[in-house]
Amino acid sequence: MKFSELNIIERIQKALTLSGYEAPTAIQEQAIPILLSGQDLLGSAQTGTGKTAAFAIPILQKIYETKEHKAPRKVQALILTPTRELALQIHENVKIYAKYLNIISTTIYGGVSQKRQEEALKRGVDVVIATPGRLLDLMNQKIISLQDVRYLVLDEADQMLDMGFIKDVTSIVDKTPKKRQTMLFSATMPKQIEVLSKQILVNPERIAV
Ligand code: AMP
Repeated sequence: MKFSELNIIERIQKALTLSGYEAPTAIQEQAIPILLSGQDLLGSAQTGTGKTAAFAIPILQKIYETKEHKAPRKVQALILTPTRELALQIHENVKIYAKYLNIISTTIYGGVSQKRQEEALKRGVDVVIATPGRLLDLMNQKIISLQDVRYLVLDEADQMLDMGFIKDVTSIVDKTPKKRQTMLFSATMPKQIEVLSKQILVNPERIAV
């Protein structure tokens, strides 16, 4: 299959070609049509399968297609991930796919000063990639609002569970609008992740790779 057959816009296809992506991976073939159609998604997938592009491409495409000229940037997409390393890795990929879209993304994670993160948010961003603890901190300080989030991703949900983030994750999800598209990815599906997915996903499509 080709990316063009997945209804991906030219601007993103161009960025993918530039990065040497020739064809979609299995998870991209499955997930992209579901996500472009607006459905929630529950995906069992490991890192290395191309899952970042599987969720990031549809989100970026939808933000691009609904963007109003000169409208101020709002946090429309929130990607939650367990570690700083994963946040940075997702950010690198998002920047590649968004190369021709005029969409700004930033990362939020703990263990470093919050000053730069705060400044980036003040300048305006469309997409935030965050670890739960620091994000909750910034929310409590009213440095970030999630009231405009339309796309929510829980990446590596089982790892967030193992690291004790589930309460934080739940508090964060509770602060996003009910009317949103939600996707949850987990390498394994323990009972607690099944329970969480029932709480936050609406009629999700399930995929496994
Ligand atoms: P991920 O599973 O999202 O961490 O992706 C693993 C690696 O595969 C990353 O370095 C991606 O840039 C790369 N990748 C993702 N999708 C494709 C694709 N369709 N073709 C080539 N490389 C890809």
